[in-house]
Amino acid sequence: MRNCPSCGSDNWIKNGSIHNGKQKYQCKDCGRQFVDNPKNAPISSYTKELIDKLLLEKIPLAGIARVTGVSERWLQYYVTSLRAVHRITMLILPNHYFYRTTDYW
Ligand SMILES: [Zn+2]
Repeated sequence: MRNCPSCGSDNWIKNGSIHNGKQKYQCKDCGRQFVDNPKNAPISSYTKELIDKLLLEKIPLAGIARVTGVSERWLQYYVTSLRAVHRITMLILPNHYFYRTTDYW
């Protein structure tokens, strides 16, 4: 069973085909379109770390999506889940995340 290359979901629908006849799919969770291709991989932790840093720089989501190659819809989904994580992080370790990550640059 294939999974969405963006979010790993297996909740997808068939969505036509591309020029060479390969089946195209669309993820119902994040909206990402993808073809049946073994090179597709979930978004790496490196990319997610990069996104975290770009978000702290207050770069618009559209810009982050262009730089990192993820879809804006996935990014929106990711940011929403990130905010939930931050609420927990800040309760346990106040200031830790925000002060430490601003030193990266
Ligand atoms: Zn997805």
